[in-house]
Amino acid sequence: MNQMSNLNLQKEFSTLIDDVREQILYLQELGVENFEIDLPEVSSFRFQVSSFKSEIPRERLEKFVPADEVLKSVAAVNQKAENEETKQARRSLLESTKLARLPPMPKRNFYQVNKINEPAREIEMPTKPTEEMPSLFGDVTPTLPEATETIEEIRLDIGNCTRCPLREGRTKIVHSTGNFQADLMFVGEAPGADEDASGLPFVGRAGQLLTKIIEGIGMKREDVLIGNINRCRPPGNRQPTLPEAHTCRPFLMREIAVVRPKIIVVMGNTAMKNLLDTKEGITKLRGEFQDYFGVKVMPTFHPAYLLRDPRKKREVWEDMKKVRDFLSAN
Ligand code: URA
Repeated sequence: MNQMSNLNLQKEFSTLIDDVREQILYLQELGVENFEIDLPEVSSFRFQVSSFKSEIPRERLEKFVPADEVLKSVAAVNQKAENEETKQARRSLLESTKLARLPPMPKRNFYQVNKINEPAREIEMPTKPTEEMPSLFGDVTPTLPEATETIEEIRLDIGNCTRCPLREGRTKIVHSTGNFQADLMFVGEAPGADEDASGLPFVGRAGQLLTKIIEGIGMKREDVLIGNINRCRPPGNRQPTLPEAHTCRPFLMREIAVVRPKIIVVMGNTAMKNLLDTKEGITKLRGEFQDYFGVKVMPTFHPAYLLRDPRKKREVWEDMKKVRDFLSAN
């Protein structure tokens, strides 16, 4: 092996280790103690998350938790927003008796008899050019299709969702919350315990840090929209499986098509991979704007990871400055 490919290999390996480290610290922050992976032909592998050492002493982490007051005021604002949303959802529920919104009769019977929801309707995204199939129109970036529905209609479609196994352990479905006309949206992986109990995204410790990050670029939490790829808490805060993520993701994509934010900040490896459909890791892509059908996407570390490793706050701050500068210039 020549020196160049040796160097590249070393670089890729250290990026991979950084990604695994981020994922483990994130799981630790969420309180996961261990997990099992079935590796076909190798046998099952048990990993004890708590045996992974972060060099950050607990007392230092506590400093990143804002005072209770901050959380209370966020909770009050969110409660108000949620009451408004519930009222609106109820109003549009009453208006939603149009036959056109119902599935065709044979399907309706099937889903009703089996007491399951229809699969999420996917919006048709334009095909991204690939090396094998370059665009017919040069380097024109495919853009988000026009939305033909409202946020309320998406909520009604989600309903009391039973489309994936996460329904079993959830307390509340955690919908995207905040300003539905926002220029800036934040997307995480899936709710944790606090979010599951309150029905609101990012209200736990990681959420409090997210509020600080938003305030750091001169905005308020109420100015932005916050959501997750998955809306139900995975048991034990495990990572959502690919089928679970793919079952729930269309709802977020449909919301994005309605809201059309200028920038989406995607937080953490799993959320980034699911939103951008990429196999690249967060360490490689963070800090550089990516494209999501014409919407700028800034991948950055998950706030739960920052709670474990505050040294990474510097990188997130660099990423957020790029977001702030783009928003003030556009
Ligand atoms: N982590 C996430 O990814 N989403 C939340 O809503 C809370 C914690």
